[in-house]
Amino acid sequence: MIPEPYHGLHATIAQAGAVMVRWLEPQRRCARVRVRELTCECKARIYELCQADGLSFVRRTDRTQQGPQVMETEWLPSARAREIWHKIITGQAV
Ligand SMILES: [Zn+2]
Repeated sequence: MIPEPYHGLHATIAQAGAVMVRWLEPQRRCARVRVRELTCECKARIYELCQADGLSFVRRTDRTQQGPQVMETEWLPSARAREIWHKIITGQAV
């Protein structure tokens, strides 16, 4: 658990007209994944902008009672992945 006063980035609630992100099973084609950005740990669902193998993707983790459930976007050039990341945290994509 993190100390109470600390909060990071929170994803905004999805807005009307938000686009649907295509969430895929994690690919694990590269062991070394660097997390560039992440949303606040206070939520059951966290998002991370990850980079690996020269590509980027957004990873979504739902921390459930059965353990973490992880999904990823497809692996994309950084600029495209960052665009999806931005849409997710601003509620324009879910
Ligand atoms: Zn928080």
